[in-house]
Amino acid sequence: MEINLISDTVTRPTPGMLKAMMQARVGDDVFKEDPTVTALEEKVAAYFGMESALFFPSGTMANQTGIKYHTRPGDQLICDKYAHVYNYEGGGVSFNSGVSCKLVDGERGMMRAEQVEDAINPPDFYHSPRTRLVCIENTTNKGGGACWDTEELRKIRAVCDKHGLALHLDGARIWNALANGAGTPAFFGETFDTISVCLSKGLGCPVGSLLVGSREAMDEALRIRKVLGGGMRQAGYLAAAGIYALDHHIDRLGEDHQKAREIGELLSSLDFVRYVAPVETNIVIFELDTPRASDSDLVEKLGQQGIRLIGMGQGKLRMVTHLDYTDRMHERVLEILSGISL
Ligand SMILES: *Cc1c(COP(=O)(O)O)cnc(C)c1O
Repeated sequence: MEINLISDTVTRPTPGMLKAMMQARVGDDVFKEDPTVTALEEKVAAYFGMESALFFPSGTMANQTGIKYHTRPGDQLICDKYAHVYNYEGGGVSFNSGVSCKLVDGERGMMRAEQVEDAINPPDFYHSPRTRLVCIENTTNKGGGACWDTEELRKIRAVCDKHGLALHLDGARIWNALANGAGTPAFFGETFDTISVCLSKGLGCPVGSLLVGSREAMDEALRIRKVLGGGMRQAGYLAAAGIYALDHHIDRLGEDHQKAREIGELLSSLDFVRYVAPVETNIVIFELDTPRASDSDLVEKLGQQGIRLIGMGQGKLRMVTHLDYTDRMHERVLEILSGISL
């Protein structure tokens, strides 16, 4: 039995999802003639109470399009030092938009409103880049699946309004935050100018993300998506998976969170584990008691037993629970972890 805890992106479509995909009505979405893509876009826009949404092949492209929409070359955006847009999108912020990032030293990927305000360059000081955008990630990936406090988000919105900045949400795992009760879809729709969401993480789709926002923003995003090569033709086969996932895979996310909590608790009890980050959703980040125990030893030992996990650098290891991580696999992981010695 292979047990893959590297990421929640490793899932395969379920039989029900595959059936929905096979039965999708499709057309050429570049001509806006794919009814299933349109239905997905309308469903996700309505979910957040926003005007419009656009289907993308990846979360990276959805984020990059949002950033491109909000900025001009030479501008600066503000994000936490852990942000996916800064660390894991191949330098796309500068490549695609000619924009730099002002990094904030937040807590588990989350900034406070005062930190955001302090990071804004004075608009009349023409030597420094013009601050134009703030990017929030919820849940935080590198921050271990942490959920933002909605009060802090409200304060950050107020800072953005005061200084005329746009506010983008990288909501690749917003479903996990919602499953934890950390805000409602309507709250996120009201608070952010644009939201990107992934269907291919906790929701278990093979492909797909959306960008959500005003009609005006999505009309412009359509052009940007075209430039980035993200116009897809009979994409309804993929969109059908998304519609299916929204209907069937949101309510079960709590199970992933419960399993992650149990892994976190067990790890905390092991003598070779120095630190386990608080487990709020489906991501467990932990550090070993180095140099006594080495990351590569643990990855190798678990690998020999068919359990895969990933190193995040700086001595951090990560396990992520997901739709394809079954109860049986979970029992086995807990059993093997409790018996391991380093
Ligand atoms: C996965 C992820 C994305 C998008 O990644 P793609 O692999 O391009 O779909 C964006 N932000 C965060 C926080 C992510 O975890």
